[in-house]
Amino acid sequence: MSAFQSTTTAPARDAIVSIARLNKSFGSFHVLKDVDLDVGRGEVLVVIGASGSGKSTLIRCVNGLEMYQSGRLTVDGFHMPTQADREIGGDRELAEIRKGVGMVFQQFNLFPHMSAIDNVAIAPIRVRGRKPQDARDTALRLLERVGLRDHAHKFPGQLSGGQQQRVAIARSLAMEPRIMLFDEPTSALDPEMVGEVLDVMRELAREGMTMMIVTHEMGFAREVADRVVYIDHGCILEMGAPAEIFDRPAHERTRTFLSRVL
Ligand code: ADP
Ligand code: MG
Repeated sequence: MSAFQSTTTAPARDAIVSIARLNKSFGSFHVLKDVDLDVGRGEVLVVIGASGSGKSTLIRCVNGLEMYQSGRLTVDGFHMPTQADREIGGDRELAEIRKGVGMVFQQFNLFPHMSAIDNVAIAPIRVRGRKPQDARDTALRLLERVGLRDHAHKFPGQLSGGQQQRVAIARSLAMEPRIMLFDEPTSALDPEMVGEVLDVMRELAREGMTMMIVTHEMGFAREVADRVVYIDHGCILEMGAPAEIFDRPAHERTRTFLSRVL
């Protein structure tokens, strides 16, 4: 997949996300340093690295939840405005980008007062203007896809953590994203519920969904990732096929990180 590792300024032709020399700071704290990264259409990219290395910040930049100061970031052909662009109101393309990007967080953040089916149907109705009955039909199909058809009318408080996270995935899919971002989707779950969420993600990968996933589940990463990216103190230290990164890491720091998590 080295074709995706473009070092030129033009996005690789088949990249959906294209990031070049991206820099991001919180105040004077430089978090992301000259990040170059492309994600190909249909690619599953797994981001690994120590806590505090910038993994969440990087994927949050891809849907504009964090602002970056310099570099170039395009998503599906739209230019993500920099912090300076946003200050002068240049955020029209941000709205376009958000339409095409789904995100699943560590905390599922479902609406507690709505049933699973309504959690999935609400954004298509409110944001896309779908007819409520159509949106609920689609929601039911999506809940079936994540194995929760029989739980469609339960409220989040009546569902396990793993089930809530699967509702959250269905909710994202309801907006028909062209890429899905996952930020440690299983880190808040009891161990016995991790597998059911990873199974849903595995199925999405098999169906060809483009995904950018931050996870500490190294077995899953090895199995599902097309490429693994290792971030160290805000720099991409290495990226490659799972076997390259896990079995033949080029950098001592990658080896040290892996020896702690594997
Ligand atoms: P990771 O997801 O790899 O654990 P993060 O991207 O969350 O790392 O954080 C990277 C660094 O940026 C950390 O040092 C963190 O403390 C800092 N950071 C994250 N969010 C903020 C924020 N809103 N304000 C200031 N510093 C932040
Ligand atoms: Mg994080």
